[in-house]
Amino acid sequence: MSTSMMTAVQEQEAQHVLQVYRRTPVVFERGEGVHLFTGDGRKYLDFISGVGVASLGHAHAGLAEAIAAQARTLLHTSNLFFHPLQAEVATALAARTGLDRAFFCNSGAEAVETCLKFARRYWHSRGATSRTKYVAFTHSFHGRTMGALSVTWDEHYRGPFQPLLPQVVFADPADIAGFDAMVDDTTAAIIVEPIQGEGGVRPIPAATAAAIEAACARTGALLIADEVQSGSGRTGQFLYSGTLGLTPDLIALGKALGAGVPVGVAMFSNEVAAAAQPGDHGSTYGGNLLACRAALVFLEALDSPALAASMAATSARLFAGLREMQSRLPVIRDVRGAGLFVGIDLTVDATPVVAAAFERGLLINRTSSTVVRLLPPYIITPEDVDAALPLLEAAIVAASGAQGTPRMSGGKA
Ligand code: PLP
Repeated sequence: MSTSMMTAVQEQEAQHVLQVYRRTPVVFERGEGVHLFTGDGRKYLDFISGVGVASLGHAHAGLAEAIAAQARTLLHTSNLFFHPLQAEVATALAARTGLDRAFFCNSGAEAVETCLKFARRYWHSRGATSRTKYVAFTHSFHGRTMGALSVTWDEHYRGPFQPLLPQVVFADPADIAGFDAMVDDTTAAIIVEPIQGEGGVRPIPAATAAAIEAACARTGALLIADEVQSGSGRTGQFLYSGTLGLTPDLIALGKALGAGVPVGVAMFSNEVAAAAQPGDHGSTYGGNLLACRAALVFLEALDSPALAASMAATSARLFAGLREMQSRLPVIRDVRGAGLFVGIDLTVDATPVVAAAFERGLLINRTSSTVVRLLPPYIITPEDVDAALPLLEAAIVAASGAQGTPRMSGGKA
């Protein structure tokens, strides 16, 4: 796309699209694997995958074919009728999450909203109508709808939309005694991101995870794991809850699960699901044939041992390369995360680093002011990592003024 066309798009959007996004001035015309292309031939290495969504990369042949075939057959009939694919996806997710029942929606926020509602529904069905409190964590992000926003910590997101749900308290994941004091017999549920994504790619510490399990056992509070960003295989396990030893009653899924088609799912234990009655909840689009077909293609791809091996090798290369970079660049304070969910915490604002990487053909993003976040497609390879790391280092050095020492030959991790 030419500069004048770019400007035309920007001007039209400025008039007719709600101005809630700060978009980078680029229009991508097509994608292929881990790359995106502009109309004028510029090529970008995609290490953000549409914020953790394009899990199979761009223009994945199997996904494209399945979606096209589904479109030629039947896309949507609503939840007034049966179709065969919801049960198929639900069965596959039950096997992978240990929770037996699924509710299908269209986004992460809706999946969280569903979990919040049914935590209360569960207690209501037992006559415990005053068990309405949610215990969430500082630095949490759970989405933008009113319920999900109520358990989201950052005042920047919350402030303009007050009043939100009043029965929410926030515990510091590092303050276990403080957390314990908040969980009592008025708590409907504890909600946690096993790795806090928007909050700066912060894995929940093991001791906090143990305290969460203990608090649930002590009070009967339900546990909601928000795995919208950390789940669906991104960390190498289907859920990061399992890695932490968490046993949630409800799980929110989204992002990577649809591989680019909007899919949200709330998974329920049978005990919580037993409280649900027809009419309690619903979604016009949720779990339609298009969404389920995409999820099935994704889940089948994720089952491939070759993909699992490639993801593990690529993650190891990425973390090793970043830690080696950290040893040379004092501006890198921390490298954290798991699998293909990576945060690089800097001593400076990460925004200029994102812009400098973009200029060099690498797509990344910033979260929590100083953190560069990497959420590449699952199909990236160690060779893609080798291509990305020098671009990232150059961007960090250029944007932060940090002095990197030259690499030794063959020294790339
Ligand atoms: N929960 C978590 C952990 C997220 O990271 C996000 C989005 O970034 C959401 C919920 C909301 O998902 P969506 O934007 O699909 O509504």
